[in-house]
Amino acid sequence: MKRPAITINVSDIAERETSFAKEMFAPLAGMGLTFTRMMQNVSGKIRPTISYPEERRSYSERYRGAHILTAREDGSPRCVACYMCATACPADCIYIEPGEHPDPHIEKYPTRFEIDMLRCVFCGFCVDACPEEAIIMSRETEICAFSRDETIWGIERLMRRPELAEFGLGYRPNAELVDSRLAFVPKEKLIMSMPNSITLKEKAEMIPHVTFDPRK
Ligand code: SF4
Ligand code: SF4
Repeated sequence: MKRPAITINVSDIAERETSFAKEMFAPLAGMGLTFTRMMQNVSGKIRPTISYPEERRSYSERYRGAHILTAREDGSPRCVACYMCATACPADCIYIEPGEHPDPHIEKYPTRFEIDMLRCVFCGFCVDACPEEAIIMSRETEICAFSRDETIWGIERLMRRPELAEFGLGYRPNAELVDSRLAFVPKEKLIMSMPNSITLKEKAEMIPHVTFDPRK
């Protein structure tokens, strides 16, 4: 049997369900919510903003920041100039020149290893491709320079990283192995004053020992 058609008049429903009290209360409810948020901000209960650079976000351990070339125990680069990273690099920003290593157990080493930091897209493919854990990433984000030349980082710049104590290690797929080679012992974190933030002092205490000067 065919059911009779039902006509729904939304204007009638709206008229039935709307009242003077509701129309008056709705803006007040909105203003109440705004006021509550404002008081939470003023009291410090929620703080979506931070006082950068004194306070910074606590980035993930997998953050892909500026690169680090890791070192052997004698301070020389762990890199064996195999070109895996340069081949994997989608930005074509790694340049390597190999040399014969004096140690017969190590075939090659880089006499020149450069990363063009302005071309790099910080994808981490080079880190994934490296068979020696010779290149890893840090959580350093603030890369600034006065000239174009300064944005091309060579071996020394990639190894001697005084700013690491501030920013910390970033993406390194084989973290356990890399950290053991770097004698990485994460220190107990201080109590944070704000969620999702970390102080410079805290970061400075995290990895003071991965900075070194290969020339010394
Ligand atoms: S992070 Fe990506 S773009 Fe940058 S050097 Fe490595 S592979 Fe190339
Ligand atoms: S993949 Fe690793 S070992 Fe090979 S050239 Fe790049 S940094 Fe050196």
